[in-house]
Amino acid sequence: MRIYFKELTFRTHKRRELVDITSEVERAVAESGVANGICLVFAPHATAAIIANEHEPGLMSDMLRKVEEEYPWDGRWEHNRIDDNAAAHLASAFIGSARVFPVKNGRIVRGTWQNIFLVELDGPRSYRRVIVEVLGE
Ligand code: ZN
Repeated sequence: MRIYFKELTFRTHKRRELVDITSEVERAVAESGVANGICLVFAPHATAAIIANEHEPGLMSDMLRKVEEEYPWDGRWEHNRIDDNAAAHLASAFIGSARVFPVKNGRIVRGTWQNIFLVELDGPRSYRRVIVEVLGE
């Protein structure tokens, strides 16, 4: 079995932001040489997340609005006594730090309306990492 590991890096510009990383992930899968297997996309951060959904500006705005509704920045969170970003930790924990995609015939399998996004939840940050690990044959 082939195991391919790649670390991507991104800069973010807002407190909350969706960064479309589809092309970078697909490039990594192509570089991996894996024809059939799985692709893990993982953000090693406590205040970021990974999702797969449609790259439509209205929907992207809706996603961030929903995050604020569920995890209001100024909520009375206990973590805010020692840090100011409890909402970002909560959103990261419940949205999730990783997604897994099938790889078939050398390409990631995803829906037409499933682009892959890094979700910045406590930006802006000059250095956000996303791990792409491809396993297969
Ligand atoms: Zn914190």
